[in-house]
Amino acid sequence: MTFKAEYIWIDGTQPTAKLRSKTKIIAGEPAGLDALGIWGFDGSSTNQAEGHSSDRVLKPVFTCPDPIRGGDDILVLCEVLNIDMTPHESNTRAALTEVSEKFAAQEPIFGIEQEYTFFQDGYPLGFPKGGFPAPQGGYYCGVGADEIFGREVVEAHLDNCLAAGLAISGINAEVMPGQWEFQVGPVSPLEVSDHLWVARWLLYRTAEDFGIAATLDPKPVKGDWNGAGAHTNFSTRAMREGYEAIITACESLGEGSKPLDHVKHYGAGIDDRLTGLHETAPWNEYSYGVSNRGASVRIPWQVEKDGKGYIEDRRPNANVDPYLVTRLIVDTCCSALEK
Ligand code: ADP
Ligand code: MN
Ligand code: MN
Ligand code: MN
Ligand code: MN
Repeated sequence: MTFKAEYIWIDGTQPTAKLRSKTKIIAGEPAGLDALGIWGFDGSSTNQAEGHSSDRVLKPVFTCPDPIRGGDDILVLCEVLNIDMTPHESNTRAALTEVSEKFAAQEPIFGIEQEYTFFQDGYPLGFPKGGFPAPQGGYYCGVGADEIFGREVVEAHLDNCLAAGLAISGINAEVMPGQWEFQVGPVSPLEVSDHLWVARWLLYRTAEDFGIAATLDPKPVKGDWNGAGAHTNFSTRAMREGYEAIITACESLGEGSKPLDHVKHYGAGIDDRLTGLHETAPWNEYSYGVSNRGASVRIPWQVEKDGKGYIEDRRPNANVDPYLVTRLIVDTCCSALEK
């Protein structure tokens, strides 16, 4: 008996990392994360090493069933280490582990809304070749072949995420043709991040079989079209129990250098997307407000009404690294809530 393990990792491409993966045939039956061995790869081909000392280490950190291959086959998300077993400089997960352990008692959880855009033959899916479709208005949560492009891929991706056991919690069509969203969470910082990276890999892999590419480009079409974001919804136990903690969290994100400290790690090209138009706040001005989709951070109306719940940081780009955004938010908000 053997099974196939798809080892997945995040590379060192700048300014936005890419996913890589390769297959290992393993004897026996899958026996969980701890039974999976470390593996290696050529870091000089992934912007993670120089050719003269190119070996890098893959350390399994999360595993789930492989819905593409089925059977006993599995997906294995890895951290990248140097050969002395220290985290590689491209490894942002290691630092999140420390911060989330430090603040675990506050029970932080996240739900991330991942927006993305399908492309085929160099055009967003649904765009006429060399031209533009009807302006935005009818596409968001639309139905019908005049408004919806790529639903067969979206449904297959959703089924694959569910079969893999990921904490995917919904999908919707977005405001531009060929643009979609899925949500992961709410779960712990490490879980939401690991599941989101695997869900991204499954998105590319599922779309590949349809001859379609998916991109997390935050501004896939210039001009009067919404960009693609990754709204990051966050709460701690105190926020889920009372409004004072909600306000403390919102205020903490606006203190001193925090707005810029956060935004510079919220995805490459963020100033192209956070213009102040298209349901965004300007990248260099922090604001928060109830129901306000033009604020940096939104308090949903129901949260104000109930006097408890969660907040939505609307700034992260679609191409954000979830290990970074969740670490920054936990660090900033939980430090303030601890006082
Ligand atoms: P919208 O498009 O209106 O901004 P969505 O329904 O797409 O909202 O996303 C809301 C997100 O909020 C979901 O990902 C959900 O998991 C998350 N969420 C709900 N409750 C909480 C909570 N208490 N803490 C953190 N995230 C939450
Ligand atoms: Mn080789
Ligand atoms: Mn949404
Ligand atoms: Mn959206
Ligand atoms: Mn949102």
